[in-house]
Amino acid sequence: MLNRRNFLQLGSLGAATIFSNKLFAANAKPVRPIVISTWNEGINANRRAWEILRTGGRALDAVEAGVMVTEASQNCCVGLGANPDRDGIVTLDACIMDERGNCGSVGALERIKHPISVARRVMEKTPHVMLVGDGAQKFAVAEGFPLEPQQLSPDAEKAYKEWLKKSEYKPLINIENSGHGPFAPTRFDNGEWNHDTIGMIAMDAQGNLSGSCTTSGMGFKMRGRLGDSPIIGAGLYVDNEVGAATATGMGEEVIRICGTHLVVEFMRQGLSPEAACKKAVERIVKKDAARAKANQVGFIAINKQGQYGGYCLQKGFTFAVCHADDKNFIVNGKHLF
Ligand code: ASP
Repeated sequence: MLNRRNFLQLGSLGAATIFSNKLFAANAKPVRPIVISTWNEGINANRRAWEILRTGGRALDAVEAGVMVTEASQNCCVGLGANPDRDGIVTLDACIMDERGNCGSVGALERIKHPISVARRVMEKTPHVMLVGDGAQKFAVAEGFPLEPQQLSPDAEKAYKEWLKKSEYKPLINIENSGHGPFAPTRFDNGEWNHDTIGMIAMDAQGNLSGSCTTSGMGFKMRGRLGDSPIIGAGLYVDNEVGAATATGMGEEVIRICGTHLVVEFMRQGLSPEAACKKAVERIVKKDAARAKANQVGFIAINKQGQYGGYCLQKGFTFAVCHADDKNFIVNGKHLF
């Protein structure tokens, strides 16, 4: 968590620079390959995805390998180093989708380092789309994924101990039911929120789209809670005729509007990726403005023309864009509030 809290260390991001999204005018020549991903950690993930895309590799391989970088990094908010649920256990959610509409997903997976790869195996090796909990873990082990020790990272351990102190505040239980409370995002001094997801979408040199999304979910969530990230159409959606979108933020808000499916459908109607993301964000507000104001959600999208865009509820959301060897940069998401 600490890295994300102390984010915007752009000096350490190499060539990364803050740009506004003016690269692609409407109807611009298709730009591909291209990969974009949520938050600043997206820079490192994009770098890995780009190695695959630049040599003509498949978008699906790129989006899997890209987010594996984030899953493996113990010092951020995705993967086994992340914050646990309220019972002190890290549970991971992930999904992946390819250009043919194939998709796979895992929910509440414990002790597996790369949930995104298990999601891909679900897609490729089972007749199902989603596996959760013990069944997902059993499948992962049968597929040869090692079972990692059940232990919190030092940062997560510290954060959990802190949270336990406040969890004594009983009335919060009712607040939880309204979508706020202990697993609502916290805003830090630097404007960032304690979200725990990387979503990545890419178009390869062949013009095919794929996406991935992986998370530990909201920190200190109720045991058994699933957010949007493993849900196709909520945390991730790909339609190879139109575009792809992924989401981060308060998953319950994203699920209520089938967020990324909505973004893709708005693009199908002719909206640019940014305008489509904005309309989806506005839909969240329309459902419940007060709740929307108390939460953060960010969407990012690309279309078949290689245009990209993002939009969020609150200031502080960033995403990383990579479309050339020397073009891997952070964009500040435009925001509604
Ligand atoms: N969307 C994730 C969830 O609700 C959390 C996040 O993006 O931080 O589980």
